[in-house]
Amino acid sequence: MSYDVSIIVPVCNEEGNIKVLFDKISLAMPRDLSWQLLIVDDGSTDRSREEIRALCRDKKNVSAILFSKNYGHQIALSAGYDHAEGRAVITMDADLQHPPESLPAMLQLWRDGAEIVFAVRRDDGAASPLKRLTSRWFYALLKAISRIDFIPGAADFRLLDRKAVDHLKLYHERDRFLRGIIGDMGFRRAIYRYDEAPRQHGVSKYGPLQMIRLAITGIVSFSSFPLKLCSTLGFFISIASLLYAGAIIYDKLTRGAPVGIASVLVGVFFIGGVQLIFIGVLGEYLMSVFKEVKARPLYCISEKI
Ligand code: UDP
Ligand code: MG
Repeated sequence: MSYDVSIIVPVCNEEGNIKVLFDKISLAMPRDLSWQLLIVDDGSTDRSREEIRALCRDKKNVSAILFSKNYGHQIALSAGYDHAEGRAVITMDADLQHPPESLPAMLQLWRDGAEIVFAVRRDDGAASPLKRLTSRWFYALLKAISRIDFIPGAADFRLLDRKAVDHLKLYHERDRFLRGIIGDMGFRRAIYRYDEAPRQHGVSKYGPLQMIRLAITGIVSFSSFPLKLCSTLGFFISIASLLYAGAIIYDKLTRGAPVGIASVLVGVFFIGGVQLIFIGVLGEYLMSVFKEVKARPLYCISEKI
C-alpha cells in the first residue's frame, strides 16, 4: 500500500532510541494521515538491528533497509529517499534531538501548500556552544561564497513533497551535502522553528573530523571560490616576488648591497608553502571529479525487511 507520509530515520548504533522514537512518532502523527517509518540502518554494531527487526515484526507500517556496512549519514538519508513511498517524506535523526512533537505542525505547513518544510533549530538549543558557533560561521561562509539559497540552521530535519523527492533523486553526485542540494532546488518553502532536545541515548557520531569532512564537501560541491582564491592569490604573490627581486637587483647594482641568503630562503619557503596549499585545494576538486567519474554505487543493501 502507499502511504501519505514516509518518515526516514538513519540509524547508526541507536539501540536505546529506536523503540522510544517509534512510540513518540505514533503519538504525534495526525490520525487522518497514513504513515510509514522507514529505518535505514547504517552498519550498526550494537543491538540496533535486533531492535529494528523486532519493530518491523510488530508494526506493519515499519520497514527497514540494512546497509552492509557504515556509509555515513548523508548516504543513509539518500537510500531512504530512494525507497520512501509517501506523498510527503520527512527525515529526522534517531536520537530524539529532532522532536517528533514537531511533526503535526510541519505536516500542516505541507497541507497548506509548502513543498519543502525546513525545520530550523532555535539558536539556544541543546547543541554545545562550540558546535553552534562553528555551524553559524560555516553557513555564513557558504552563503557568501556560493549561490545557494541556504537557510541557516536548517540541518537534516525536513519534509519534502513527493515532487521535491522525485527531483532530488535525479542528483547523482557521490559526495553529498543534502542540505545544499535541497536548498538549491527551489520549490515553495516554509520554515518551522523547533527547540533541539538533548540526545537521549548513546553518543554523537559527528565528531569534529566528520563535521570538517561534511563542511569541505559542502564547499567543494557548491563553490569554486577556493579555486579562484588560489589563482588570485598566486597572481599577487608572483607579482610581489618579482618586485622584490627587482628591488634586490637594483640595490646590488646601485649600492653594491649584499644579497643575504636569508631573503632567498624566506622566499623559497613562502612560495613552497603557498604552492602546497594550492595543490591541496586543486586536489580536493580533482578528488571529487575522480569520484564522480568512477560512478560507483552509492550504497549496498544487505537486507530489506
Ligand atoms: N548516523 C548515521 N550514520 C553515521 C552517523 C550518524 O546514520 O555514520 C545517524 C545517527 O544514528 C543519527 C543521525 O545520523 O540518527 C545524526 O547523528 P548524530 O546524532 O550522531 O549527530 P549529531 O546530532 O551529534 O550532529
Ligand atoms: Mg544527534
